[in-house]
Amino acid sequence: MSNVDPQELSKFGELAHRWWDRNSEFRPLHDMNPLRLEWIDTLAGLAGKRVLDIGCGGGILSEAMAGRAEHVTGIDLATKALGVARLHAMESGVENIEYREVAAETLAAEAPHRFDLVTCMEMLEHVPDPASVVRACAELVRPGGWVFFSTLNRNAKSFLFGIVGAEYLLRLLPKGTHEYARFIRPSELAAWCRAAGLDLATTRGMEYNPLTRRFSLSDDCSVNYLLACRLRP
Ligand code: SAH
Repeated sequence: MSNVDPQELSKFGELAHRWWDRNSEFRPLHDMNPLRLEWIDTLAGLAGKRVLDIGCGGGILSEAMAGRAEHVTGIDLATKALGVARLHAMESGVENIEYREVAAETLAAEAPHRFDLVTCMEMLEHVPDPASVVRACAELVRPGGWVFFSTLNRNAKSFLFGIVGAEYLLRLLPKGTHEYARFIRPSELAAWCRAAGLDLATTRGMEYNPLTRRFSLSDDCSVNYLLACRLRP
């Protein structure tokens, strides 16, 4: 397995038991969850869909999507995070969800074009070769199906807000959560998508207000952003 940073996985594994604690390091994911869920559902319609969530972690988004979709498969390579995800789904009585420890590239070879909708949120900035994950998304989704990404832009502002602000000033995230060099410009992500046969549908910014601790959608993609695309039919 080459497209993996073991240090990244152990970072998420060590924190895994706090994944569903809204006041933990995972608070930003909880805070952005309703927003991204609605955005995905509005664009693609989750009802009746077979969904794949890549880099699902403890399952915050996977479980929320399972409430609306026909079936959700969550994949990740952090064993402990998957354990937490399975336990939480069981405790919540969610039955249309399955978690698997498998790389996106491996699953793509095993189940090509098997999913109506693929999500890959806050994950690309943690892998050595994000373009390879983007290609795997294109191989996993059916023609005409939707793929959703979210990640962090790479510029002075995202360094200031995404690392200095979030990890050092507000302490929303543990120090070392993000590495600036791995941040991805929307133009770079869009180019990888196009090369993989994914047509860009839209990009939106996700702005964080530290006073209200709320995320909202905006036209400003300079820090956190979402990108939606569809596999060319
Ligand atoms: N997508 C989830 C979790 C984001 S945290 C959410 O938005 O709520 C980032 C996740 O990416 C972690 O669970 C981490 O284990 C996972 N990850 C990092 N590298 C990975 C890789 N190479 N393959 C699969 N998952 C990976």
